[in-house]
Amino acid sequence: MTQVRTRFAPSPTGFIHLGNIRSALYPWAFARATGGEFILRIEDTDLERSSQAAVDVIIEGMAWLGLDHDEGPFYQMQRMDRYKAVLADMLEAGHVYPCYMSMAELDALRERQMAAKEKPRYDGTWRPEPGKSLPPVPAGVQPVLRFKNPQGGVVAWEDKVKGLIEIRNDELDDLVIARPDGTPTYNFCVVVDDIDMSITHVIRGDDHVNNTPRQINIFRALGKEPPVYAHLPTVLNELGEKMSKRNGAKPVTQFRDEGYLPEAMVNYLARLGWSHGDDEIFSRQQFLEWFNLDHLGRSAAQFDETKLRWVNAQHLKAMDDEALAALVSTQLLRNGITADERLPHICGLFKDRCDTTVALAHWAAAFYADITPNAEERTQHVTDAVRPALADLAEKLVDCVWDKASIGAAIKEVLTAHGLKMPQLAMPVRVLVMGTAQTPSLDAVLALQKQQTVLQRLKNA
Ligand code: GLU
Repeated sequence: MTQVRTRFAPSPTGFIHLGNIRSALYPWAFARATGGEFILRIEDTDLERSSQAAVDVIIEGMAWLGLDHDEGPFYQMQRMDRYKAVLADMLEAGHVYPCYMSMAELDALRERQMAAKEKPRYDGTWRPEPGKSLPPVPAGVQPVLRFKNPQGGVVAWEDKVKGLIEIRNDELDDLVIARPDGTPTYNFCVVVDDIDMSITHVIRGDDHVNNTPRQINIFRALGKEPPVYAHLPTVLNELGEKMSKRNGAKPVTQFRDEGYLPEAMVNYLARLGWSHGDDEIFSRQQFLEWFNLDHLGRSAAQFDETKLRWVNAQHLKAMDDEALAALVSTQLLRNGITADERLPHICGLFKDRCDTTVALAHWAAAFYADITPNAEERTQHVTDAVRPALADLAEKLVDCVWDKASIGAAIKEVLTAHGLKMPQLAMPVRVLVMGTAQTPSLDAVLALQKQQTVLQRLKNA
């Protein structure tokens, strides 16, 4: 069997969002799952709308998610000579022809067709046929090149998502594949690239379904068999609209900055249009073991941030504390906070109550930077009735061995001496030391704080 070769071919015309990156995840996974190769190709021929910043987000986002490529990135703008050479061959072989119809003539044609309730399409005026005489070539007009689409018959393919699709050739007019200045157009470049890059499986968004029969005809004109196609249903945003930058979709890298884990993103994105039984939480490794093109969903998938947070929380809980600390320390650094060797333990203690590394960093900050106790909780818990016990605890902690067991014993002694129940003392201590009354068990939290910090914060009672 020939080696699987897939590609992701984004246009850098806006910041890549989750809907786009899912079109990278599946071809990547299919290549990895089959021992194949994954190619990155940047389709940057729309000079006005393409930007380097958008390319950077593509490359950064893919690296973050671990969607590594074996070849590329190839840039279409750097392949112009190749496209022009293929165009010249096609002209020579009679697969394309020059068309001198002006814009005004095309407009007039369209209007006539609309008035006659026909589908607007090029009428083949300049298409050479045996025995047909073409109009005289107008002086000083640079022609476009049109592809001589086959007439009659159908173009059919077995789409891995949508099943058999058949389009009658009569529905397809002769596509412009080079502009008057000789630059090739989109559908043509894609085919030349997919041939040159020996792509075996094209897995892409279904906004390209209409291009596929045209591309297949170009493949055949070039003497090649088209690849296998899988057209993925759209990803909708939370309002049920097609996800797009225009309606507020975030660039992929923003999820990294908001504290999502790459493993969780891959898990969540994988489920957005593919399933393996009822499995909701799985590792990258499991995903690659299970992934194939037979279980791709047929209907549009809807993004759900609450679910993404939940998936992230599951991965966060399962993650090794050292690895987690590395990510949290990056988040802390962004706020000018340098962590120390306590951070993995802090992560271990707080990760169960966090759904992002940003939330975790927020907790960790209370160990490395000043805190301001929540005013309401302070009024509620730090009362005159409990102040003597707080002072007593502070005194006991001065000479305390700084570990969880000894701190726990000191707390118990104060509870007994003052006839208090655990929450009556623990709540005000938490508010003073951590800023809020909702924390994991007090002895564990205090043991991770520095002794001096605890004593100082208790003084603010
Ligand atoms: N450049 C196209 C896009 O970003 C993808 C083309 C393809 O995958 O064939 O939508």
